[in-house]
Amino acid sequence: MKAIQIVNPGKHSALEIQEAPTPEPKPQEVLVRIHATAINRADLLQRTGNYPPPKGASAIPGLEMAGIVEEVGPSVTQWSVGDRVFGLLPGGGYAEYCTLHEDMAMSIPGNFSFTEAAAIPETFLTAFQALDWLGKLQQKETVLIHAAGSGVGTSAIQLAKHLYKARIIGTAGKQHKLDTAKQLGADFAYNYKEQNFAQEISRDIGPDSVNLIIDFIGEPYWHKNMDVLAVDGRLVYLAFLGGHKLEEMSLTPILRKRLSIIGSTLRSRTVDYKINLSQDFSAQTLPLFENGTIRAVIDSTFDWTETEAAHQRMQENKNTGKIVLRGI
Ligand code: NAP
Repeated sequence: MKAIQIVNPGKHSALEIQEAPTPEPKPQEVLVRIHATAINRADLLQRTGNYPPPKGASAIPGLEMAGIVEEVGPSVTQWSVGDRVFGLLPGGGYAEYCTLHEDMAMSIPGNFSFTEAAAIPETFLTAFQALDWLGKLQQKETVLIHAAGSGVGTSAIQLAKHLYKARIIGTAGKQHKLDTAKQLGADFAYNYKEQNFAQEISRDIGPDSVNLIIDFIGEPYWHKNMDVLAVDGRLVYLAFLGGHKLEEMSLTPILRKRLSIIGSTLRSRTVDYKINLSQDFSAQTLPLFENGTIRAVIDSTFDWTETEAAHQRMQENKNTGKIVLRGI
């Protein structure tokens, strides 16, 4: 098969379409002909050489896909050749074919294109895991979602609104991302480049008012996050885009407010964990996708021969929502 490989990982990495062995499905796996995949920050990191794929995963980048079942392993009971499926991958999405455990595959809603389906798994499952499994968001609580225009952010806003009727606050660095956050359901949206979100939240909602924070930024937001969290608040870290070293940090708020600080990476979780997560996610959200209540926000679609330009767009923080690759 053809696949995009990372050549020369490091500062001067390149992406090249090369020949690679077509994966063979294990007894409980399906072989999927991929029709669309999507880009994630992890792919950019993998190119730097500092984020190797987990043990046993394909070195081909790509954490999600949508396509058609081409072959089924002998123990597969849920899928047949020709079924349209989408799902999470530990790697290997930038390719013509991938294999997937049958329990991790999700059925593409009838009205969805491959482009729409490929934009869902990584960001929506990450957002669902952060809000529900890790952040234990309760109905009508207040949640602060940083990087609100990101793929994960746009997904989290919609889930927080439609699964939990939460009061939602978003932060982003561009007006059009703040506008999108509001259209998707954010009640308040602040530009972190122009406003001190902690002061704004204290003024607009009240001090110590945020029950859950989903943070991808890290160091620059630590003190402000501590300021706005409510008693028994939760802070879920998914990335440290702004830095991971803290100086002059007081641990006092953690005790005083009885805070939980949680970190997670989805890619390194076990297959069983991802199966359970995918199944819980499907049960709770696929009806909402099907009736149009929630959707993946698609920033742009690139032909897979233009993957370099697609990566560049994400590197420059230009995307609002997902960047999808087609034509694989
Ligand atoms: P994305 O669509 O590329 O969006 C990231 C956005 O973050 C950028 O567009 C930018 O928006 C903002 N940003 C970047 N650097 C920043 C900084 N220093 N300070 C403030 N904002 C900054 O990303 P994504 O694919 O949704 O992923 C979001 C993050 O979650 C990534 O870091 C990704 O690696 C991580 N992630 C983690 C997991 C996990 O399991 N831990 C899973 C999936 C994704 P503005 O224009 O608003 O600045």
